[in-house]
Amino acid sequence: MNPLSNLQTPTQQQTAFYSKSLFCATNTKEYQQAMDMARDCVVAFLEENKKPFSGIAPETLKKQFESLNLNIPLAGYEKVFQEAKELYTQHAIAFHQPGYVAHLNCPVVIPAIAAEVLISAINSSLDTWDQSAGGTLIEQKLIRWTCDEIGFGSKADGVFTSGGSQSNLMGLLLARDHYAVEYLNHNIKKEGLPAEASRFRIFVSEAAHFSLQKSAAILGLGEQAVVKVKTDRSFRMNTVLLEDAIKREIGNGNIPIAIVATAGTTDFGNVDPLTAVANLAAKYRLWLHVDAAYGCGALLTEKYRYLIDGIEKANSVTVDYHKAFFQPVSSSAFLVNDKRYFGLVTHYADYLNPKDHDDNGIPNQVNKSIQTTRRFDALKLWFTLRIMGKEGLGNYIERIIETTKEAVKVIENDSHFELLNHSDLSALVFRYSACPFKSFDLNNINLHIKAQLYKNGFGLVAGTKVNGQFYLKFTILNPLTTTTDIQDILNLIKQHGNEYIDFN
Ligand SMILES: *Cc1c(COP(=O)(O)O)cnc(C)c1O
Repeated sequence: MNPLSNLQTPTQQQTAFYSKSLFCATNTKEYQQAMDMARDCVVAFLEENKKPFSGIAPETLKKQFESLNLNIPLAGYEKVFQEAKELYTQHAIAFHQPGYVAHLNCPVVIPAIAAEVLISAINSSLDTWDQSAGGTLIEQKLIRWTCDEIGFGSKADGVFTSGGSQSNLMGLLLARDHYAVEYLNHNIKKEGLPAEASRFRIFVSEAAHFSLQKSAAILGLGEQAVVKVKTDRSFRMNTVLLEDAIKREIGNGNIPIAIVATAGTTDFGNVDPLTAVANLAAKYRLWLHVDAAYGCGALLTEKYRYLIDGIEKANSVTVDYHKAFFQPVSSSAFLVNDKRYFGLVTHYADYLNPKDHDDNGIPNQVNKSIQTTRRFDALKLWFTLRIMGKEGLGNYIERIIETTKEAVKVIENDSHFELLNHSDLSALVFRYSACPFKSFDLNNINLHIKAQLYKNGFGLVAGTKVNGQFYLKFTILNPLTTTTDIQDILNLIKQHGNEYIDFN
């Protein structure tokens, strides 16, 4: 007897009940209406938010959340979008506004946003071929393209990640496990850390990203494993001091395993001398990881590609498309010059990616990733390149680098300011320094300025500390930001600085 015959055909009412709001063929109408309203909500965000930030204080916004009961649904999409506007979009930080020059958030391009609609609806998971099919091939083709742009050879490979932090973690993970296999004949994946691991050392510049210390901690090496090498006057790793540090650690009985060079530091946008660092890595047989989370933008332009020459000498590279390729979060990749390194992290699960898949040529990206279920972020970059080409994005990069050079002139020609760096890319660290009396603390004045800018929301800048002193920072990533916008923000800074002095 057919067991299915015991099941009654559901009534129309039952079908409606069990398919409520599901993404399925019977609900195309709801899907279309919801998407239309979502689009209208985004268009309103573009048209109605006139400045980068409303300036709302956390206390004020928090109050609106207090009485909400998530167990009582709202009456429909109209109500949901109204609520989203009040709680979120009205006060969201608008990265597309030319006056937003704070953190490393680029404005995003429309082809990528269109791809995002497909990504979340179709919801492929890129861990295995049997959950993604063509999605895996699209990702692989983009990885190959990126490897070619870097100048890696035919053995190179890579995988999309959630961000630069994860890519850096993978770089140090492979460096650690590769060292142990190669020089200690020890398999960390299987046996855990060897006794020598507490003496492993990784060299970074003092301007490198903090995710490297976090990674060393996660990897069981401790933050102590990260040796910070001083930078030169332009905030690039000083390679004389790098070699001194390597020798010193060896002299102390420690074990250098890797160097991380930063191609575009988060604070200064400067690129470590990649070729000189690569030569030292070769001399001491160390893994070279290049963190190009920010500097990867130079891959897009012939004019500025020279800035990251030497990147092709790396064992592994971090690129962040959501920092410098105008992609929505998240979109990043981790790349190696030899795909065999990924064997260090591969785990074959019988239910997901059995070993025989490899033998039969079935591509499973999970073999190269520390994630399992993984978004099809690659489709965003695919749409972007298919609509705009590399050149379209490259023009943006050229523009922001040139705007930054103009901004340098403006800041340097104004006696109210002290500029700390010239940038290879587009980050400038400076402070208001027009202080007539010594009794004023420049740190307090600049902290006041930053807080006032945030409260008024017309121009948003970041802040950072250099040698214990507080500075303001411009990160220019919007091709629409002009020298006039920069001048306007500088005028606001002067106004808040002057008013602090007048009132204190
Ligand atoms: C932002 C940044 C990272 C971290 O990237 P996420 O995508 O934020 O995780 C790493 N390195 C550098 C140089 C960065 O600027």
